[in-house]
Amino acid sequence: MRQQLTILGATGSSGTSTLEVVALHPERYGVYALTAQRNLKKLAGQAVRFRPLVVVVGADSQIDPLRQELALMDPRYTPEILAGTAALEQVAAASTVTTVMAAIVGAAGLASTLAAARAGKKLLLANKESLVMSGRVLMEAVAQGGALLLPVDSEHNAVFQCWPQDGVARKGVSKILLTASGGPFLQTPLHELETVTPDEACNHPKWRMGRKISVDSATMMNKGLELIEACWLFDLPPERVDIVIHPQSLVHSLVAYEDGSLLAQLGHTDMRVPIAHALAYPERHTSGVPILDLTTVGTLQFVAPDRVRFPALALAEHAMGQGGTAPTVLNAANEVAVAAFLEGQLGFRQIPELIEAALSEVSSSSSATLEEVLWADRTARHQAAEWLKNRRP
Ligand code: NAD
Ligand code: MG
Repeated sequence: MRQQLTILGATGSSGTSTLEVVALHPERYGVYALTAQRNLKKLAGQAVRFRPLVVVVGADSQIDPLRQELALMDPRYTPEILAGTAALEQVAAASTVTTVMAAIVGAAGLASTLAAARAGKKLLLANKESLVMSGRVLMEAVAQGGALLLPVDSEHNAVFQCWPQDGVARKGVSKILLTASGGPFLQTPLHELETVTPDEACNHPKWRMGRKISVDSATMMNKGLELIEACWLFDLPPERVDIVIHPQSLVHSLVAYEDGSLLAQLGHTDMRVPIAHALAYPERHTSGVPILDLTTVGTLQFVAPDRVRFPALALAEHAMGQGGTAPTVLNAANEVAVAAFLEGQLGFRQIPELIEAALSEVSSSSSATLEEVLWADRTARHQAAEWLKNRRP
């Protein structure tokens, strides 16, 4: 059956890679909706090419400018244009949609990701923040809605591919090993980290990604968020998720079994591979990326992470160990800190300081219902903003 797609966050790095894979297989995929917050020119170009029935923008004020943009590019194409969060939920849950790519960045993706889960869609999850901030709520929505949740994050997609297919074998899983590149500052002298710029932090050695996740990779909070993501996706406690630095980023993650076996997934550092896997699942088809030629890769290194250099790891482990809404607070404070860093208002090494302060100041509840998650998210953002205002210069 031809899948009908909604791509949330179509203009971003993950959304763009998704459309590149879709373009290779027009007989398999139709595009029902594309959404973006800004960058109307890029959105219009994608829409004219992929002909979605519905296009969603961030605000009502962008509807007319987008319509004009589309009229210039192709006057015969007149999709429905909607705006705002309710519209994102609507196109994620629409009855003709089979498959939703959740590729909005940050907590802004939660409502539409939840809507797709509740509507029982095949849900391709790039938006890790929604799972970090409200793991229990999202996993329950997936179960109750009968959705098929497929990880697109390259590490979790790798684990998923190495994961045992039947319940009996699942008992033999010992742990998961998430690989991490270590980001652009793996070797930078610690004192130099005080003054690194947003552009330096976003200059990732292996991956081209949006700016928020690029900063997360530089602090290694990305791996912290991914640890929490892995705990929810694979139902494991944080003690059974190890993090190992692998600068070549060719082994995307591994599953360790009781008998001493380690299963790994390897491939080029290109998001089209996990995206194609999730789109085609349970089948396989081309992604546009060649198979890795092992004879050319040279040495593969694996080392334990330096927890002094990367305090974000311990913060994430602590938050997941605490449970409840502690990961919600961690995620919200991180989003505020990264935005402040990108705007030049916060030093790189103060990012984890701000998060630690929020974790200790915002009381977290243990149950984490949706209401409690939204309260913790709001409170942590408020607290983080106060911290930014009151800190010593
Ligand atoms: P990006 O910044 O390149 O794109 C984000 C997309 O979300 C854009 O289309 C933007 O218009 C939209 N968006 C931003 N704010 C929004 C808002 N408030 N409401 C609605 N839409 C909004 O981000 P990205 O790098 O593609 O990352 C997207 C998600 O995928 C993140 O959660 C990230 O952690 C995850 N992810 C990305 C990669 C990657 O290689 N880029 C890899 C793994 C996971
Ligand atoms: Mg990842």
